[in-house]
Amino acid sequence: MKEIYLDNNATTKVDEAVFEEMRPYFCELYGNPSSMHFFGGQVQGKVNEARQRVAALLGASTDEIIFTACGTESDNAAIRSALEVFPDRRHVITSRVEHPAVLTQCRNLTQKGYRVTEIGVDSAGRLDLEELKAAVDEDTAIVSLMWANNETGVIFPVEEAAAIAKAKGALFHTDAVQAVGKIKIDMASSCIDMLSVSGHKLHAPKGIGVLYLRRGTPFRPFLVGGHQEKSRRAGTENAGAIIALGKACELAGTYMDIENSQVKAQRDRLQDALMASIPNARINGEGADRLPNTTSIAFEFVEGEAILLLLSELGICASSGSACTSGSLEPSHVLRAMGVPFTCAHGSIRFSLSRFTTDDEIDFVIKELPSIIQRLRQMSPFGREFLKSQV
Ligand code: PLP
Repeated sequence: MKEIYLDNNATTKVDEAVFEEMRPYFCELYGNPSSMHFFGGQVQGKVNEARQRVAALLGASTDEIIFTACGTESDNAAIRSALEVFPDRRHVITSRVEHPAVLTQCRNLTQKGYRVTEIGVDSAGRLDLEELKAAVDEDTAIVSLMWANNETGVIFPVEEAAAIAKAKGALFHTDAVQAVGKIKIDMASSCIDMLSVSGHKLHAPKGIGVLYLRRGTPFRPFLVGGHQEKSRRAGTENAGAIIALGKACELAGTYMDIENSQVKAQRDRLQDALMASIPNARINGEGADRLPNTTSIAFEFVEGEAILLLLSELGICASSGSACTSGSLEPSHVLRAMGVPFTCAHGSIRFSLSRFTTDDEIDFVIKELPSIIQRLRQMSPFGREFLKSQV
């Protein structure tokens, strides 16, 4: 069965051009980039080129790019560093809808005596900037807010948020893992101090990330040891993956227009058709500024997992808005923070497209999903009540 892959916010296909770029750096050009000899030197040259490509996509300088192992490491490194840089500041601000890479770390900090404020969102998932303004004070070490939400695609006004944080002397970090490659980012005209990137969300392999660190921003490394990455991240560079990420960033720049035209048009067509053909459905985050590739749709009176299973039988890959905790399916913290009613949050499905998504794939989902929802509603007591009320 050929897959119809609409789960690109979970991970993406490695672009074949990206794979070809990194291929020689495993079995042939396997030198250590830090070695003095020519064999390591040629890898170092390619790592430098990758750094330039990443910097170009972010509108950054090459010395502001630190390669890490993943988005999670970049998030952890940014927050931990701020706390070490400002030992007297004991307050951290984040939002209620962050990825666990940020949220878990922040919640753990409360056990170490830190004050942690989680800023809320409205029913469309928009950040409450007034709440942020009221929360930042001279005790705040860092404000960490995501650029775009992985579940709903809702985009936060990170530049305004950064200005608010910096007015009180706090550092500002953004988890831009879902934003990079999908929307334009220009760190040269920004006041954000730190930004996280993950390779596998933009058609590079898993296990490579970046922490952007604005020049002059005080920093304490998370991993210490060797002098790699100008002593800001010890550990022999994952050269092949770094080279892949460089190529992926170059391609992301080239395809950015496609992301915002073709991919967005497919996303809009998918959600418009599903909203028109399926009663009692709603778009989570509707009305907010959203990523062009993402739509999260709640289908009332059905279980998201049941939808996913039936979609999967047809080869369609998407994801749900629930997390399996201790055997029970809880609506995700993001949908709960938005106040999405329980009956809707349970039946939420996220479709996330990419430049590899085809029109035929979208047509297939538009054709198949309405009958899946109808079947599932017939199987559930609330669903049957609802269907009866429709006739
Ligand atoms: N932040 C966001 C918003 C994400 O969506 C993800 C991955 O899903 C991460 C961080 C973690 O990135 P990685 O898988 O590279 O650790």
